[in-house]
Amino acid sequence: MNEQTLFHKIRDKQIPSSIVYEDDEVMAFKDIHPKAPTHLLFIAKKDTDFVPSIDDLNEATAHVPGLLIRKAQAFAKAHGISGYQLKFHVGKGGGQEVFYLHLHFLSEQKIEA
Ligand code: AMP
Repeated sequence: MNEQTLFHKIRDKQIPSSIVYEDDEVMAFKDIHPKAPTHLLFIAKKDTDFVPSIDDLNEATAHVPGLLIRKAQAFAKAHGISGYQLKFHVGKGGGQEVFYLHLHFLSEQKIEA
């Protein structure tokens, strides 16, 4: 049984967040301490896709980073964002604070949402 992280609670809507995108597979919400005019976090929603960090990927979860990147790309296209940065913080030494794999999406362009 995995420990429930802050992002499990956001995913399960036990903690409020500013959700900008959601489907059956992923959710994207605004980072509470934005480092760019648009700073979003993409997470996979399914329990079977849960992995704490890039460092913990295995055969069963290897597809998850690609899923998050694909959804971020589609989100950018849908919102007319032509330039952005995608980042994974890996491990405490890599600046990771929340051990629920998430993709940072940063852009100088603002979204309406
Ligand atoms: P990381 O350092 O990659 O683990 O990123 C965790 C991110 O979560 C940081 O950029 C925080 O600002 C962000 N964060 C922490 N608490 C919340 C929250 N309640 N809602 C949205 N973002 C949060």
